[in-house]
Amino acid sequence: MNEGKIIFIVLDGLGDLAYDFFDNKTPLEYANTPNLDYLAKKGSCGMLDVLRPGLPPGSDSAHLSLFGYDYLTEYPGRGPFEAIGYGYKLQEGNIAFRTNFASVRRSGNQLIIVDRRAGRISGELAKELGESITNEITEIDGVSIQYTHTIEHRGFLVLSGDGLSHEVTDTDPHESGAPVLKSVPWANAKNHNAALKTATVVNKFVKATYELLEKHPINKQLVSEGKLPANIILPRGAGIKTKLEPFEIRWGLKPAAIAAGPLYRGVALELGFELIEVPNITGLPNTNLDGKFEYAARNIDKYDFIFVHVKATDYYSHKKDAKGKASFIEKIDKALEPIIESYEQGVTILVTGDHTTPCKYGNHSGHPVPILIAGPNTRQDSVELFGERYCTNGALHRLRGHHLMPLLLTYTGRVLEYGLRSSPYERIFIPKKEWTPLEL
Ligand code: ZN
Ligand code: ZN
Repeated sequence: MNEGKIIFIVLDGLGDLAYDFFDNKTPLEYANTPNLDYLAKKGSCGMLDVLRPGLPPGSDSAHLSLFGYDYLTEYPGRGPFEAIGYGYKLQEGNIAFRTNFASVRRSGNQLIIVDRRAGRISGELAKELGESITNEITEIDGVSIQYTHTIEHRGFLVLSGDGLSHEVTDTDPHESGAPVLKSVPWANAKNHNAALKTATVVNKFVKATYELLEKHPINKQLVSEGKLPANIILPRGAGIKTKLEPFEIRWGLKPAAIAAGPLYRGVALELGFELIEVPNITGLPNTNLDGKFEYAARNIDKYDFIFVHVKATDYYSHKKDAKGKASFIEKIDKALEPIIESYEQGVTILVTGDHTTPCKYGNHSGHPVPILIAGPNTRQDSVELFGERYCTNGALHRLRGHHLMPLLLTYTGRVLEYGLRSSPYERIFIPKKEWTPLEL
């Protein structure tokens, strides 16, 4: 039996709103999902405020919260996760940003956003444009610059040098028609001079990318074809590498992760998860869904906790493609067969989203997300289908992200009552690794 094991499935941006063209159902409710419905029927359902009610999470703060970390005190900013997840060896004191290729047009002495994702430029073209930036912008004001393209329009930027700070604002206004922003120090920056120096380098970098990309032959070609150019790189989500308490120490579970997106791999690596490599996973709609769930089911004997991340639900949401999202959810459901077998062998299965991304808006929102937990020790409630409106009536009611890990320890028979103290640290499981035997 696998009682005590957990498979933790996050469908990115799963939550949504109901649409007329789906008979007033959400994409999840509209999709035909017999496997998810089976798990919902067998287990407990509810709604989850991943951070707190009404606060839209980014995927990074969301995953930290889902894994039982405090987004208010333990979140180091997004950039480092992107860089580490892509295999970059961040050094102490380095400042990392996530970046987007964007399309801008000049208006007077400002640059106006035409598309924050450069018309979702193809990965191949973005890679070639990215390489020119990597090769040509390597130093600004004595600070070393390392830009790396990752997937689609995305990438990351690492600054290394003395006296830098991550407490600087984004250059991306998050809105079409708005100007590219000047990076400035946070009002409450601990070291204003370091933040000002960093912001100055970021602003010079952004201008330099515009100058280089605007005249790049690939962009000239795109424009001649009537397409949007990827003519600027916008850094945001500055962060600094910090040391987070390993997941295994905090929860007593040996963890592994199956994820393709650099951000999710980065979060997992920073928390000490092992990565299970699955062929042909991409973080896109063409990912190997069958492989993800097969590898999770096949490897659960070796770990206590396997996190499986699926990104493309969020991809369709950002594209405002509710029909694409619903049919992708159906594909996920078909691929869940091995997970159903794991459930039947006693593994506790959790399925949720890291935030709601309504296709209506194409951005993350503060609505709660549906959650199901099914295992040998979960209580069955009256919910028989997996969907936002059904889960509202479930036994888990309304939870926050940081409630999940204690609940999972409860459902796997690992939890220890509050107040028992056999470790110098407060733990809610038997912390054998932190015991000190008395010696005679
Ligand atoms: Zn997300
Ligand atoms: Zn998203």
